[in-house]
Amino acid sequence: QAKESGRNKYSLYSSCVGQRHHQALRLEQALRKALAQQQLEVHYQPKVDLRTGQLQSLEALVRWYDKELGQVPPEHFIALAETLGLIQQLGQQVLRQVCYQLQSWAELAVPVAVNISAKELADPLFVAQFRQILAETAVDPKLLELEITESCLLPERENQTRHTLQQLRHLGIRLAIDDFGTGYSSLSYLRHLPIHSLKIDRSFIKALPENGSDKQITSAIIAMANALGLDLIAEGIETQAQKEFLLAAGCQYGQGYWFGKAQDPAATRVLLEKATDYSMHSNKDSVVAE
Ligand code: C2E
Ligand code: MG
Ligand code: MG
Ligand code: MG
Repeated sequence: QAKESGRNKYSLYSSCVGQRHHQALRLEQALRKALAQQQLEVHYQPKVDLRTGQLQSLEALVRWYDKELGQVPPEHFIALAETLGLIQQLGQQVLRQVCYQLQSWAELAVPVAVNISAKELADPLFVAQFRQILAETAVDPKLLELEITESCLLPERENQTRHTLQQLRHLGIRLAIDDFGTGYSSLSYLRHLPIHSLKIDRSFIKALPENGSDKQITSAIIAMANALGLDLIAEGIETQAQKEFLLAAGCQYGQGYWFGKAQDPAATRVLLEKATDYSMHSNKDSVVAE
């Protein structure tokens, strides 16, 4: 066994050195080490009910701080983990941390959404490993939501994906489509897949409320979600004007720097315990800004 893994290591490096940039290799080594030593952390960003100003749930976002590389953005290392076949391990570490966190927040009963990449969902072991973590932590599956992007739902994979999603749904887990509107898939999956919510991609929110076509697209997505009975959440709300437009247009939930960035578990617990009023919060901020 040792011999085998030694040989794999050797062939990996010998085939790559000289072809890859030194930087990329350093990042790869650092990521392997971070995973081996379980150095990744999870931060939590609030999702807010725009109508009541109350926190509705949280999104778990992975964070990696490396002593030499500094804070590495998920955009850099998630794709790398997928390429290197490390995404399953990464995903499990994140999910396990989230479930232990939910356990320690049990009395607060706050739902948490976890991002899952297409590669994880395609793994035939995914559901079994997921069940194992749920059993280990005794977390109520109803408190968990999985965020998947439309690229997970490519038509050629639809049967297999549908099966996995149905199994997850039977466990009581909620499913959300992340970055909605940016993928190239057809909308037919909305009829076939057990989805609970859509997250409108930040790119549509950015230029609201000035941009006419973004207003039209956003309004159309809101109407469609309402007609289909899906929860709808707008990502990337950064201004009060964006929030007001979305609320008036009938979008119930929102998320973005206007309400708050992702924070570590200790800071998040404070938010949860003081039952932060986000309608007040934004009023207060705009007063300060004036
Ligand atoms: P996402 O799931 O669409 O998450 C939203 C991203 O937008 C997060 O970036 C968040 O910090 C950022 N964001 C939130 N509000 C605002 C805002 O008002 N303005 C702007 N400009 N940005 C905002 P982050 O944490 O860097 O994550 C980037 C992406 O990496 C995520 O996009 C998700 O696709 C992926 N990711 C993060 N954590 C995980 C994870 O644990 N597993 C997997 N598979 N992917 C993850
Ligand atoms: Mg997400
Ligand atoms: Mg998103
Ligand atoms: Mg995204």
